[in-house]
Amino acid sequence: MSELVIDDEDARLAALRRLDVLDTPAEEPFEKIVNLVQTVLGVPMATVTLVDQDRQWFKAHRGLDAQETPRSISFCTHAIRQREPLVVPDALADERFAASPLVTGEPFIRSYAGVPLRTPEGYNVGALCALDTKPRRFSAAELAIMGNLASIVCDELQLRLIAQRDHLTHTLTRRGFVEQAEKEIAKCRRYGRPASLALLDIDHFKSINDTYGHGGGDVVLRQLAEICAANMRPSDAMGRIGGEEFALLMPETGAAEALAAAERFRAIIEAHEFELEGGRLLKVTASFGVAAYTPDLADTTAWLAQTDLALYRAKREGRNRCRLEPAPEERSAA
Ligand code: GH3
Ligand code: MG
Ligand code: MG
Repeated sequence: MSELVIDDEDARLAALRRLDVLDTPAEEPFEKIVNLVQTVLGVPMATVTLVDQDRQWFKAHRGLDAQETPRSISFCTHAIRQREPLVVPDALADERFAASPLVTGEPFIRSYAGVPLRTPEGYNVGALCALDTKPRRFSAAELAIMGNLASIVCDELQLRLIAQRDHLTHTLTRRGFVEQAEKEIAKCRRYGRPASLALLDIDHFKSINDTYGHGGGDVVLRQLAEICAANMRPSDAMGRIGGEEFALLMPETGAAEALAAAERFRAIIEAHEFELEGGRLLKVTASFGVAAYTPDLADTTAWLAQTDLALYRAKREGRNRCRLEPAPEERSAA
């Protein structure tokens, strides 16, 4: 394992951002681990805590209601400054914590053990914590168990990242994309902001595979993902939704603007010369479906289905074109 890096808060926060885990829903592996901490150590509270710039956010929490608290009053902000677990047998006897509102008020923390969660690059992004409302000691055996569980948390954080990225194209996997789109839907609902989806499907891809082999098809997939990634906004997300089908998530983008963006991508792909192994050049086109988010869409599946209707029309009407769902004339009639 790499050396611990402390005193580089910007790099530490960047490492935390790369994990892409803040504000995501509960996930089973982390739930199981806090459950284990609770039962094996016999503590009323256990958390998987990530220390963000100004807050600590709980990826999993048992026995306490808050999803996050200010960083300034947290125990974990101290735990991440060290290699070894931070153990506080009695918070009232420790001047760092005696006046913390987490100690003097809900949830009345009196003792704490936090094992730092270190990324492979060496940044402590948070801690696995056991908390009690009574003063208590944590035995060497208990801390060893916590250490093992913390390293499982770190592995799980890496695994969920791997599960989010497609190996061939380095775009998001369907799972990773859906997670991003769900977050975007929550934002649209909360703040009434627009967002749009585009689905891109390569035209006659089967014949590319048939002519140039599966390897040739893979080169086209990789290059297409590259040119899209190079031409999208930093806030956009791109995922590989199926074999030769990609989705683009465009936050803060209404229907007309998203259609224009899709048209730009379509033209870029049409103009691009794909280079196969051996230097052979190949032209490829793609069809696009676009749909803006509307509150009647229950979830990402419904939003993708809506977008797929537009893609189907683009295919049916001759390919190498972009279509919007609902179609503009239907929209103005409504
Ligand atoms: P259309 O214009 O109607 O989209 O025709 P198409 O041939 O592109 O569409 P279809 O969906 O029938 O074919 C998709 C093909 O994509 C079939 C499948 O073998 C191929 N494919 C799926 N995944 C991969 C992959 O990872 N690599 C390669 N090389 N080909 C793939
Ligand atoms: Mg297809
Ligand atoms: Mg296709």
